[in-house]
Amino acid sequence: MNRLGVLGNPLGHSISPQMHNAALEALNMTDWSYELVETTYEQLDGTIKRLAREFQGFNVTIPYKEKIIPWLDGIDRYARAAGAVNTVKVEDGCLFGTNTDGRGYLKSLEDRNIDVTGMKVLILGSGGAARGVSTAMGLSGAGSIDISSRKKERGMRLVHILKALKVQSNWLDFANLGKRKIGGYDLIVNTTPVGMSPHDGDLLAFPYDLLEPHQVLSDLIYRPQNTRFLQEGTKRGLTTVDGLGMLLHQGALAFSHWTGQQAPLDVMEQALTDALKGPQE
Ligand code: NAP
Repeated sequence: MNRLGVLGNPLGHSISPQMHNAALEALNMTDWSYELVETTYEQLDGTIKRLAREFQGFNVTIPYKEKIIPWLDGIDRYARAAGAVNTVKVEDGCLFGTNTDGRGYLKSLEDRNIDVTGMKVLILGSGGAARGVSTAMGLSGAGSIDISSRKKERGMRLVHILKALKVQSNWLDFANLGKRKIGGYDLIVNTTPVGMSPHDGDLLAFPYDLLEPHQVLSDLIYRPQNTRFLQEGTKRGLTTVDGLGMLLHQGALAFSHWTGQQAPLDVMEQALTDALKGPQE
């Protein structure tokens, strides 16, 4: 049996098994499976060693995306730039980490014919998702990437990471965005969890009236798909991109990385859509 899975805690909300098992079934890979590997921090060392013996590969999710790095035998440039690993491949008992989150996000933009090359980007939030997405955009030729967050220290850290990748970047105080030329950005990305289910009614405090129709507004949240943040963009005629495409493509990239097979995107997308209709926990 070839085993794949996702390492994290808690994992009750994860819809990765539905997506990956649908892909394995569609490709008739009957001797493969994808399972949840929920583990506490105290058990982490033993669990990772067991995965190295018994698994072909696994995803890593909250809260271990950064913590797992010392256990790995190597990480690639995407994981290094993101400072986090979401995909591990096991080769002869050795563990190699990559990060498909940011590249998955770029593919979700490509699906909408949006090319970040030369774009002026504004990222709202400076957490793990912001770092993954912004460094992938930086490595793919975005013109400039500004970071807006409540906490200056965390935001500035990301600005320095981007500058080290030779990307033009500035920090903007989230509380003062209303005084900025928001219309000058090509792409604005919400990487905060504001508006995520079950708090669908929450709306990020953002100067929406400064948005202009030529801009792209994007949200990494996928539950719900059409967040209140995106609805404010639609109202004003902007192109919007939700978080489902990122979830799909980060999974598809991981699937191909482990199996060497082309990921059946339609099947995986349908599995995600079905799973999102189901109960949340
Ligand atoms: P995180 O590390 O906790 O970072 C969250 C960021 O949001 C922090 O910078 C935080 O700012 C900011 N924030 C929180 N509440 C805010 C508010 N009310 N106003 C302004 N800023 C606020 O979380 P994460 O792991 O980056 O995840 C963020 C989101 O991305 C989640 O909704 C997650 O579901 C989504 N995501 C989606 C995918 C996908 O595949 N589509 C993948 C990964 C993540 P402070 O530092 O100032 O507190």
